[in-house]
Amino acid sequence: MSPLERQACEAVVRTAVALADQGFLAGVGGNLALRIDARHFAVTPSASDYYAMAPEDICILRLDTLEQLAGNGKPSVESGLHARVLKTRPDCNASVHTHQPVASAFTLLDRPLPVTSPAARQAIGGDVPMCAYAPSGTRWLTANVGKRVHARLNAYLMRNHGAVCLGATVEDACHVVRLLEQEAIAWFRQSLAAQPHNPLHQQALNALTA
Ligand SMILES: [Zn+2]
Repeated sequence: MSPLERQACEAVVRTAVALADQGFLAGVGGNLALRIDARHFAVTPSASDYYAMAPEDICILRLDTLEQLAGNGKPSVESGLHARVLKTRPDCNASVHTHQPVASAFTLLDRPLPVTSPAARQAIGGDVPMCAYAPSGTRWLTANVGKRVHARLNAYLMRNHGAVCLGATVEDACHVVRLLEQEAIAWFRQSLAAQPHNPLHQQALNALTA
């Protein structure tokens, strides 16, 4: 492994653990990819325990063919999705797919998420589109997300599933993950507060505030 590859694999492990600590990956769910150079990227292995993962387990793949060049693990089922995103957005070096709780709950609704805070609008780039449903790890999901990806928009929701957040650096992408969660919480709070007489709404509001 070259020093550059080693550095990328270490960053992927560190980031996966940090995201898991924050509850954004839901068990072994979610995955992330980091560009190494113009032709290669590092991606988390499929269904692995993020707390037991070592840099040697991270998979290094070719961006064009997804051929695995290194790594003990089997590449994430969403490797094709990450490759598509990284190829479409050369300005982004990190692609993070989360099962973050509140934004994922929002994906049960068939609508884009409005982004209201100025800081979030700046980092995310606008309202977050809802990409059409397709099963995890399929070329249909890659196509549904891929066709929505465009310059300057750094977050995408996947119907009945989760989110994909992008950034120039992995830190930037994780910042987008946190802002997206805050915006989803704000949307639910506002929607629930608009119907204050239903006790179920009050319970949900309390859960979001806890
Ligand atoms: Zn997923």
